[in-house]
Amino acid sequence: MLKPEQKIAELKQAKKAVVLAHFYQSKEIQANADFVGDSLEMAKKARDLEADVLVICGVSFMAETVKMLCPNKKVLLPRPEAGCFLADCATLEKVILLKEKYPQAAFVCYVNSSAEVKALSDICCTSANAVSIVKGLKEKQVVMLPDGNLALWVQSQVLQKEIIGFNGYCDCHNNITKEDVLKAKDKHSVAVVVAHPEVRQEVAQMADFVGSTAKIVNFIGESSAKEFIIVTEEGILNQLQLKYPGKSFYLVSPSLVCTSMKMITLNDLYIALLKEQYEVEINADLSRKAQIPLKRMLEDHLV
Ligand code: SF4
Repeated sequence: MLKPEQKIAELKQAKKAVVLAHFYQSKEIQANADFVGDSLEMAKKARDLEADVLVICGVSFMAETVKMLCPNKKVLLPRPEAGCFLADCATLEKVILLKEKYPQAAFVCYVNSSAEVKALSDICCTSANAVSIVKGLKEKQVVMLPDGNLALWVQSQVLQKEIIGFNGYCDCHNNITKEDVLKAKDKHSVAVVVAHPEVRQEVAQMADFVGSTAKIVNFIGESSAKEFIIVTEEGILNQLQLKYPGKSFYLVSPSLVCTSMKMITLNDLYIALLKEQYEVEINADLSRKAQIPLKRMLEDHLV
């Protein structure tokens, strides 16, 4: 009797399939993925792969993004109901109203958004490249969708532009308070604090380093410090422990778990490969429109 890991490996080979997982996926999923990264790295990797089938272990906007960049490949999302609270904050109606209110502004949309919202935007960004993308725009006024915390952080880094934020937030990162950080610092007084820009601004201001998950992983690798307080989703701990076994990591709060990211089980991944489900499909016209800001991000602003 083959173990689930062996069955997954056999199916990947037989179907020329590649599994891409986000840093926030469970340890088991990360262990069975061919690539683990943040949303920007996943999108770039997927675009450059030769595979026939791409299985995205992440949430729905990630699978949609990959499908838009790889329209000729079969893209599977093992749990199609795995959405993103933050992406759902930006509705089409609210974005249309903002476009009417700020006709001169550039619209920058975080990849954590629906294809419909992307289609109305000028350029996409991720937390890894948001600052460089906003700096590179010719417009002085920039509307950032949908994460208000990311918009505030970008504003603190790009003082020469007026950033208009949106009132969306990630329910996982936004839960973290100053008190959580203070408690963790009390317990681990020499630890360096690293945070994701989806946290509240007052929490970001307490961090020694703010960056995307991929940037956090690189920062820790280059740092001479041995202890770190982690202020992003707990799934990243797995990669950090694998990459840097000599260092210690303390999650700032046990509440830093994204339930959507944790939906996919090993059995879901196996069934997805076996039955080639659930295939991501996007209306051709919508896909064409949403690809424009996505490709502009990837072509103009590779980081
Ligand atoms: S961690 Fe937040 S932004 Fe990321 S998928 Fe979960 S809800 Fe969305």
